[in-house]
Amino acid sequence: MKYLFDTHTHTNFSHDGVPDPEKLVLAAIDKGLKYLAVTDHCDMDCLSLPGFGWVRQIDLPSRKAEISRLKEKYSKRIYLADGLEYGFVKEANPLYLDVQKNYETDYVINSVHIVEGVDVYFREYFDARTKKQAYTAYLDAVRASVDAPYDYDAIGHLGYIARCSTYPDKHMRYADYSDLIDDILKAVIAKGKALEVNTSSKGTRCDLFHDTDILARYRELGGELVTIGSDAHEPKRLCADFEEAASAMLKVGFRYAFVYENHKPHAVPLSE
Ligand SMILES: [Zn+2]
Ligand SMILES: [Zn+2]
Repeated sequence: MKYLFDTHTHTNFSHDGVPDPEKLVLAAIDKGLKYLAVTDHCDMDCLSLPGFGWVRQIDLPSRKAEISRLKEKYSKRIYLADGLEYGFVKEANPLYLDVQKNYETDYVINSVHIVEGVDVYFREYFDARTKKQAYTAYLDAVRASVDAPYDYDAIGHLGYIARCSTYPDKHMRYADYSDLIDDILKAVIAKGKALEVNTSSKGTRCDLFHDTDILARYRELGGELVTIGSDAHEPKRLCADFEEAASAMLKVGFRYAFVYENHKPHAVPLSE
């Protein structure tokens, strides 16, 4: 890819993000990126459910000031998109509607991290369920997230459930959940949303979050809007494994990935 970009990154405005935002922007410029979406966690899901009081909430006013300052300061060298990653649970819908009234973004990723009241980052979720139960409940939650009443641009890291799962075979294969996955992909397409290819699953025995079979099915159903995000929580992971993602996407028929400015998708050729 000639035009370098990253649509999913975190800074220290996220409870689990390390880099100072300016350091991340400078690292992106150094690397030759022309577009960077900073998509810190906005965890209204954690505010809406019991048991998540330990999660530090994002300071939106301070973040707006800092991202706007950086956007302006580096505008000749990079497009800095003010993004957020929403953690979907249906109980949080009214809170996100409120966030949107007060905080303007370029790009919003809608992601599922909590299923049936448990963060699927932790093994307790898997200990209490068979793989079929665990993955089916996750996909049901993703399906509900597609219908969220607030504005968002992309469905984040479909297949995230596999990253921390504790089963001997972690893969979420299309063939095993085809009805549920079809339902999600069709709804994504019908609503004009994008599907994210998230490259942060390296080392988790899942090559890309959605194994290529899911990506291929999305294409087959007519899906065009795809984004690529590293989910970097540190500068050195910017654009990690993007070449591999691009070649997997080209193989199943995608020619472009998309980046968002003010919620408008712009096509970036994958093959140049
Ligand atoms: Zn996420
Ligand atoms: Zn993320």
